[in-house]
Amino acid sequence: MSLMTGAEYMASVEVLGLEANVLGQRVDDLAGHPLLRPSLRAVATTYDGAHGDETRDLFRAYSPLISDEVNRFTHLHRSTDDLLNKVLMQRHCGNVTGCCFQRCVGMDAANAVYSVTYECDQAHRTGYHARFRDYWAWVQRQDLVVDGAMTDPKGDRGKRPGEQADPDLYLRLVDRRPDGLVVRGAKFHQTGMLNSHELLVMPTLSLRPGEEAWATCFALPSNTPGLRYILGRQASDTRKMEPGALDVGNRTYGGQEVLVVFDDVFVPQERVFLDGEVDQSGALVERFAAYHRQSYGGCKVGVGDVLIGAAALIARMNGVARASHVRDKLVEMVHLNETMFACGVACSVRGQPTAAGNYLVDMLLANVTKLNVTRFPYEMARLATDIAGGLLGTLPPLSALDDPELGPYVHKYLAAAEGWDAADRMAVLRLIENLVLGAGAVAYLVESMHGAGSPMAQRIMIGRQAEFEAKVALARRLLGEAEP
Ligand code: SF4
Ligand code: FE
Repeated sequence: MSLMTGAEYMASVEVLGLEANVLGQRVDDLAGHPLLRPSLRAVATTYDGAHGDETRDLFRAYSPLISDEVNRFTHLHRSTDDLLNKVLMQRHCGNVTGCCFQRCVGMDAANAVYSVTYECDQAHRTGYHARFRDYWAWVQRQDLVVDGAMTDPKGDRGKRPGEQADPDLYLRLVDRRPDGLVVRGAKFHQTGMLNSHELLVMPTLSLRPGEEAWATCFALPSNTPGLRYILGRQASDTRKMEPGALDVGNRTYGGQEVLVVFDDVFVPQERVFLDGEVDQSGALVERFAAYHRQSYGGCKVGVGDVLIGAAALIARMNGVARASHVRDKLVEMVHLNETMFACGVACSVRGQPTAAGNYLVDMLLANVTKLNVTRFPYEMARLATDIAGGLLGTLPPLSALDDPELGPYVHKYLAAAEGWDAADRMAVLRLIENLVLGAGAVAYLVESMHGAGSPMAQRIMIGRQAEFEAKVALARRLLGEAEP
């Protein structure tokens, strides 16, 4: 089989002819738009990785589903080695792009849907699993990007879907036709949506009897009529539309988040993978979340490596690299970063097969991974800000550096340690700025907090799986108490 290259992938997205609202304007040349092009390039690295001499083995996996090699971003994990290689691949992509490369969500969604459809068929004599296998075999053969869509708007968080003033605040079935379903609603936070060929849509919470209309799981091509896309703003995003790259910080790559509206969209029956089986929704949400919490033990660590490197570089430029307190802060950043990685590795190597045969991460350790990710990148950002110094917030723009009259002053007064000039120093500060308070902070910080579920969601899962009674029994045994 021929796996796509990055260039082939970029051409394949242009063919989709997607339209979106970008900064209030209807845009149809998304690939050519300066706000979106960097995000497309970031996804392209997930394709190029499958062709690089040093990365192809990591980025490729054998899929029994199609009896051929696939890009690991479409793989259904067959072993704990597969789970581990996923995390290593994500760290590598974070290193290369310094941002969110967007392709993990579909991989995580597919692995969850694969096992849940199998179990649903066992419980309800439905035929979803074979249908999903057919669908995913097609995705693997075509080497597609699939957007995994879970988060509903949710309206009043104190009310169930059916109690909302507007029931569409949770995506739902609104009509049933002989050949499929009609759905209405929206999904928030759609990472890489406009760079995706397909969407795989899942319910957003564990549903109860009476909530069947919200228990739908299905796939659609991204250019399906009735889908409407609104691109999210990111801090300093319009710097990408200005001349010169220096002020952007990350000159080549970027992320992308989208609000997707489903305006009475038709879903053909052969692409429906849950339809009213409320008892399956909880497992689907938990498993998708666990896989995506594992993902952060790779991607955020990869971006963290870039931040550590930039902090070390600015310390050299400032002439303080040998100061013991600076070295200690850099070591602390490494400690935090590798702790997240260790958790990502641990939840992978402790994975177990599901009844369907693909591998699921250790749920407790995946949640521990993500709970650390809700904190450590923030502390790393604080340390990088400390090392960078106040210029991080007061730096003149590139236009001042290039100004015929004022430029010489900027060069003179931003002079750094020997071997570096003002432009070097400004570039590194802008890269750090991008990650700690610019466009890159959407993925590095806000998403670290809320992506794959907010911290309380991880705490609930950790509490459920903590096996407190077993720990109490250990304590009681040491205290000499009889077994209860
Ligand atoms: Fe992948 Fe990380 Fe982006 Fe999620 S945030 S899509 S895991 S790179
Ligand atoms: Fe995410």
